[in-house]
Amino acid sequence: MWRASSMSADLGIGLALRAVNERVQQAVARRPQDLPAIQPRLVAVSKTKPVEMVIEAYNHGQRTFGENYVQELLEKASNPKILSSCPDIKWHFIGHLQKQNVNKLMAVPNLSVLETVSSVKLAERVNSSWQKKGSPERLKVMVQVNTSGEDSKHGLPPSEMIALVEHLNAKCPSLEFVGLMTIGRFGHDLSQGPNPDFQMLWSLREELCEKLQVPAGQVELSMGMSSDFQHAIEVGSTNIRVGTTIFGERDYSKKPILNDTTTELKAPVGATQEH
Ligand SMILES: *Cc1c(COP(=O)(O)O)cnc(C)c1O
Repeated sequence: MWRASSMSADLGIGLALRAVNERVQQAVARRPQDLPAIQPRLVAVSKTKPVEMVIEAYNHGQRTFGENYVQELLEKASNPKILSSCPDIKWHFIGHLQKQNVNKLMAVPNLSVLETVSSVKLAERVNSSWQKKGSPERLKVMVQVNTSGEDSKHGLPPSEMIALVEHLNAKCPSLEFVGLMTIGRFGHDLSQGPNPDFQMLWSLREELCEKLQVPAGQVELSMGMSSDFQHAIEVGSTNIRVGTTIFGERDYSKKPILNDTTTELKAPVGATQEH
């Protein structure tokens, strides 16, 4: 029965959100002056958590939520309680997207940003699928870069990033490129200096902005999770993805991971073996 435990969790979500938002503001205040003064967006990562917790967070003022499995996102975003209680909700898709799931993702109500475009082929599939939907607005997308080069992480190699962004801008009129995203290596020890994955995403943006002649303030950086979001903000993150610190530990033991196919198991971010 999740009822009893959710009652205490409900009490906790408002406080946890407030604490996270305070830590965000403290980190913003510590940023060097030369960083673009962008207020970071908090994406509350609700994967594996029930819709009641999403609604509770929404009632405490949170508007942007993230999910990493297409099926789970579609179910939550289409849930009648979510649709009626959370009219201004915005969903970010932050998981690995497989081509056969693109149409399903495009059907998600209130889809705001797809953070994980990682190939030209996927970009074209998403572009034509969004076009067919006939939405008046372009779909915002980020390019996921595998900054750590680990096999367990999705995303495209850093050397291919600029070509993909140029392709998005030139050939995908239904999509709006808004930034770069990375997951990065887990467990970086900050006493050894800034996180190299975050530094790499930062310098990739420098390169990109120089090449495209656009101001850095127009290209977001999605980096930072529960364990390191303050550091990520200090080194330039504009979009942090925080799950555990808001909603509590995830329990993957109760039900099988909602994988869309077996290859989704490649990187169940936040599963215990990752930490
Ligand atoms: C699960 C997940 C997060 C949130 O992780 P926490 O450690 O719970 O904050 C962030 N980003 C991605 C891509 C995720 O899959």
